[in-house]
Amino acid sequence: MSKNMLKFVSLEKQMPVKRGAEARREDFNEIYDEFTPKKAKEQASRCSQCGIPYCQVHCPVQNNIPDWLNLTANGRLEEAYELSQSTNSLPEICGRICPQDRLCEGSCVIEKGFESVTIGAVEKYITDTAWENGWVKPVTPVRELEQSVAIIGAGPGGMAAADQLRRKGYQVHMYDRYDRVGGLLVYGIPGFKLEKHVVERRARLLEDSGVTFHLNFEVGRDATLSELREKHDAVVIATGVYKARDIALPGSGLAGIVPALDYLTASNRKGLGDAVPAFESGELNAEGKNVVVIGGGDTAMDCVRTAVRQGAKSVKCLYRRDRKNMPGSLRETRNAEEEGVEFVWLSAPKAFLGDDKVTGVKAIKMHLGIADSTGRQVPVEIEGSEHDLDCDLAIKALGFDPEELPTLFDEPELKVSRWGTVAADPLTQMTNLDGVFAIGDIVRGASLVVWAIRDGREAAISIDKYLKNAAAPKSLAS
Ligand code: FAD
Repeated sequence: MSKNMLKFVSLEKQMPVKRGAEARREDFNEIYDEFTPKKAKEQASRCSQCGIPYCQVHCPVQNNIPDWLNLTANGRLEEAYELSQSTNSLPEICGRICPQDRLCEGSCVIEKGFESVTIGAVEKYITDTAWENGWVKPVTPVRELEQSVAIIGAGPGGMAAADQLRRKGYQVHMYDRYDRVGGLLVYGIPGFKLEKHVVERRARLLEDSGVTFHLNFEVGRDATLSELREKHDAVVIATGVYKARDIALPGSGLAGIVPALDYLTASNRKGLGDAVPAFESGELNAEGKNVVVIGGGDTAMDCVRTAVRQGAKSVKCLYRRDRKNMPGSLRETRNAEEEGVEFVWLSAPKAFLGDDKVTGVKAIKMHLGIADSTGRQVPVEIEGSEHDLDCDLAIKALGFDPEELPTLFDEPELKVSRWGTVAADPLTQMTNLDGVFAIGDIVRGASLVVWAIRDGREAAISIDKYLKNAAAPKSLAS
């Protein structure tokens, strides 16, 4: 082993410098600076090269983390980049927004007794350096194939599939109903977690690699699934989940109660320079308002922190369980608290108050009762504990369900689960329709970017096998 490793015994874990909360509240830029080369080397050298790399095992794309840490610690950054990109189509994006505390870093063996290696920030550093040095190049397939693949949805799952299919030489067409490439990376996740230029340069790279984009193209409106199947040799459904869960409470119909994704999309569009009438009118703008966000997941965290940056008067997050039992990342919760968000734990909404417009939320205190069949303690109302919170913008961040794809795509035969997610073979990602594959959130339900990337890469392998066994390309038929 290189003598530069195993430094966890003498070096403390460090993250890149985090900007102060006051400065963060003023803009939508990322909150962490880049590591200096010296710091990246030092932090990489903390890896113990343990032999059974749980970090790798618990990474959905099986990143070869110990080896790229070793290469970084030894100043061999270009090789570190080559290795890192060999398992992940969007490493600098995962470095920024993966919940490392639950995946690689949370599984690091030196976590027990010492603090884990800073994996995500080093991953980001390696690939950002690669971009700066021109090491990230468009794909040039060894040979072009006639067969074409349609990918419906240009989010991270679709982007990973496109990258891998182009490497194999297939003609790749991506169809997306949005006007930009990136899915939730662009319109869901705010800039303070992931600046948009990072996604844009990936979109450009795919274009330079020969991927054809059909934007503002909604499958179901502009073409049916069967039309795409006619035209292409294989189809990948990578449409994500977008049906916002709702709560029916007294006062639900009042103005000023909005779904989280509408709110975040408006903010992201504004940041991208688009005209956003619902933002200009104040409907989707938190400036000067008392904001209550309902929910405890990543989406809720992104909403509260967006509201702070828009200049809200106060921002509260109402969650029916406690800090320990919230689904959102603890790191992001801490960041939100630093930025001035107040968490109202163990509280659930009972009603929205107001005449035409919401002016308050009636909430009730909860306690955690006995566990249900999933092992999670069920929140139970505490009688007589109702209390009112001032609110003139209520944001519902209660999760997402899939749209009804068989109806939307005019393909009643497409098999879906009882939750509406597309049923795909876990080994091949193929649906019940021949040559139609499905990946990412539309299969898993709302999940993580890294799982969508994994699915996209695996689907590309399956599609390659499938097409190698197929008859002549559709472009040559008839
Ligand atoms: P998406 O990213 O949703 O992309 C689907 C694409 O399909 C979209 O571009 C959409 O326009 C397009 N589409 C849909 N229907 C059609 C149609 N009929 N025709 C054409 N195109 C269509 N994950 C993390 O790992 N870390 C985080 O910090 C994190 N934060 C999040 C914050 C928010 C607010 C949200 C909502 C999610 C967050 N996630 C996070 C989850 C993550 O964004 C998703 O798991 C991931 O984007 C799923 O990728 P996907 O490719 O399956 O779908």
